[in-house]
Amino acid sequence: MKLAYDLHLHSCLSPCASEDMTPQNVCRMARLNGLDLIALTDHNTGGNLKAFDQAAREHGLLFLPGMELCTAEEVHLLAYFPSLEAALEADARLPHLRGSMKNRPDYFGQQTLVDHRDRVLGQEEAFLLGALATSLEETVSWITSFHGVAVPAHIHRSYGLVQVLGFIPQSAGFRAVEAGPKDQIDENYLVLHSSDAHELGLIAQKEHLISAEKNLDSIISTLQYGITV
Ligand SMILES: [Zn+2]
Ligand SMILES: [Zn+2]
Repeated sequence: MKLAYDLHLHSCLSPCASEDMTPQNVCRMARLNGLDLIALTDHNTGGNLKAFDQAAREHGLLFLPGMELCTAEEVHLLAYFPSLEAALEADARLPHLRGSMKNRPDYFGQQTLVDHRDRVLGQEEAFLLGALATSLEETVSWITSFHGVAVPAHIHRSYGLVQVLGFIPQSAGFRAVEAGPKDQIDENYLVLHSSDAHELGLIAQKEHLISAEKNLDSIISTLQYGITV
């Protein structure tokens, strides 16, 4: 089947995102926009995944747990996981890869942890916008070790794979990439067009569709192999 998706969304936990990007608000907007499938991809954290997973379920959306990781080369890499459990397992390991820098909310913005009813649980203290200690290839292996799949984010923009390295390294084994609708991409890649929304008004409309069954295993396989299997 064809699923209308937005697989790159930030919540109020990302310091650069609006405080309105709460589970209920994002899910309501996604439904209004006619989407079937959304992913949450906060910077270097999965801290709000559980809340979004529950809210998405209530709103009848398929929810793909994700993160947007910043590699040591400062390449943004989307990580998608086949289950909330796998994503939370990965999240529990992230403090080892992040530096010890603390967030400065006055300068970088709030990093708000919420529950599925949008109630504030607290602030994440670790600074989430820095680069992880792992290289691109190490980060890909790290994601794979949790049965996840890595998809380079906005490859032609700042912090994008092609912008930073100048090319897509074959050795990393990417089959799917995220790019702008007008970007020219080798036809061997599955090209995703997600919003990278940091505010509610920028969440995708029903314009881009992915061919997959309406379950996470099928979505992960599609991203892993670049085709519907
Ligand atoms: Zn990014
Ligand atoms: Zn992003």
